Amino acid sequence: MNNKSILISGAGIAGTTLAFWLKKFGFNPTIVEHAPKLREGGYAIDFWGAGFDVAERMGILPDLDKADLKIAELTFVDENNKRKGGLNYKQIVKVMNNRAFTLLRSDLARAIYKHLDSDVEIIFGDTINKIEQHADAVTVTFSSGNKRSFDLVVGADGLHSNVRGLVFGNEAQFEKYYGYYTSSYTIEDAAFDNNAYQMYNVPGKQAAVYLTNENKATTFFIFTSPQKLSYQYQDIAAQKQVLRNEFENIGWKCADLVSKMDAAPDFYFDAVSQIQMNDWSKDRVTLVGDACDCPSLLSGQGSTLAMVGAYILAGELKEANGDHKIAFQKYQHIFKPFIDDKQKIAQNFAKSFVPKSRLGIWMRNVIVNLMFLPFVSKLLVKRFSDDKLKLKVY
Ligand SMILES: Cc1cc2nc3c(=O)[nH]c(=O)nc-3n(C[C@H](O)[C@H](O)[C@H](O)COP(=O)(O)OP(=O)(O)OC[C@H]3O[C@@H](n4cnc5c(N)ncnc54)[C@H](O)[C@@H]3O)c2cc1C
Repeated sequence: MNNKSILISGAGIAGTTLAFWLKKFGFNPTIVEHAPKLREGGYAIDFWGAGFDVAERMGILPDLDKADLKIAELTFVDENNKRKGGLNYKQIVKVMNNRAFTLLRSDLARAIYKHLDSDVEIIFGDTINKIEQHADAVTVTFSSGNKRSFDLVVGADGLHSNVRGLVFGNEAQFEKYYGYYTSSYTIEDAAFDNNAYQMYNVPGKQAAVYLTNENKATTFFIFTSPQKLSYQYQDIAAQKQVLRNEFENIGWKCADLVSKMDAAPDFYFDAVSQIQMNDWSKDRVTLVGDACDCPSLLSGQGSTLAMVGAYILAGELKEANGDHKIAFQKYQHIFKPFIDDKQKIAQNFAKSFVPKSRLGIWMRNVIVNLMFLPFVSKLLVKRFSDDKLKLKVY
C-alpha cells in the first residue's frame, strides 16, 4: 500500500469517518482538530439515507439509537403556543423503514469517535498554518510550530475549511449564499415538558426549540437576509446582536429564548451557503464533507453525505493501493454527480424553506398537515431519497 500516512484536518463528521475507514483499510491516519476537545452541544440533525448505511457498516447504529431524541412531532405553533399543524415524525420514520434518527450532530460525532481505533493519532488544539506539496510528500507546519511530513492531506474542516483556503484559495470563489442566516445554541436549564419540536413562524423568520435530554433544550433560528451581512466571521458579539434584533420582538417564546443565548456554551451562527467546486483535489491534497461539497442545511443531509464521501474516499484509496491520483479522481467521479443533484434539490427548496408571508405560513401548515396520508409522506421521502447511489463494498 502506498501513501499510508494521511493527515486529516478536522475531527467532525467527515474527518472521523474517514479516519475510521482508512485505519480499517490499512492506512495510518492522523487527525488535527483546532478545538481543544471534541465539540459538544449543537443542533439536531436528521440522519438517514446512504449515511445510515455507512453508519451500519461501521457498527455504530446502537449508539445512534441511544442518542435519538425520540421527537414525536414537528409542531407548528402560533404566538400563543397554540398548535396550528404538525408533521408526524414517527410516520415519516416508519415510511423510511425505521432507518432514520434525529440526534445532535455532536452525538453523531461522538459515536464515530468512540469507534475509532485507539491507534489513530488525534491532535487537539492545533491547526495547519502552511502546506508545502512535494513530488513524494506534503510538509505541514502547524500553528504550534511543529513541522511534519505526510503522504497525503485531507481537509475535513467544514464549510470554512482551512485546508481549502491554504491550497485552493479564497472561500468567496466557492461559496454560494442562499439568502438565510441560521443560529442554534443549547439552553442548559430548560423547563419544557414534551418531546415535540416546536416551531414558530412570522414572515421570513422561524424559531424552534426542542428538548435534548434532562433539563436541556436546543434552539434553532433561521431568517431571510437577501444580502450577506457584514460582520467578522469570528465576531460572536456582533452575531448575537443580529439574532437579538431579528427575534427579540417577534412574539411567542422568542424574547425568553434569545435572553438565554449569553449563557449558552455552544453558540452557533452562520450564513446558509453551499460550497461548489469543480475540483476537490490538488496533487496530494483533497477535501471531503462540507469543505468541498457543503449542500447546506436546506438539504437536511449534510452529515450523512459527509459520511458517504469519507467512506468512498477511503474505499477508493484502498482499491487503488494508495495511489492518490487514481483514487482522488475516482472519488470525485463517483460522488460529485450525486452531490450536484443534492445541491440542486436544496437550491430549489431555498425559496420556500421559510415562508415569506402569512399566506405562505398558512399554506405550509396545510401541506404539512397532509403528510399524515401515507402516500403523501411516501412522496416526500422519495423526493429526498438516495436511491441513485449504489454504495460499493470495499
Ligand atoms: C443548523 C444546521 C442544521 C443542519 N441539519 C442537518 C440535518 O438535519 N441533517 C444533516 O445530515 N445535516 C445537517 N446539517 C449539516 C451538517 O451539520 C454538516 O453538513 C456536517 O456537520 C458536515 O460535516 P463535516 O465533517 O464536513 O464538517 P463539520 O461537522 O463542520 O466538522 C468540521 C470539523 O473541523 C474542525 N475545524 C474547523 N476548522 C479547523 C481548522 N482550522 N483546523 C482543524 N480543525 C478545524 C471543526 O472544529 C469541526 O470539528 C445542518 C447544519 C446546520 C448548520
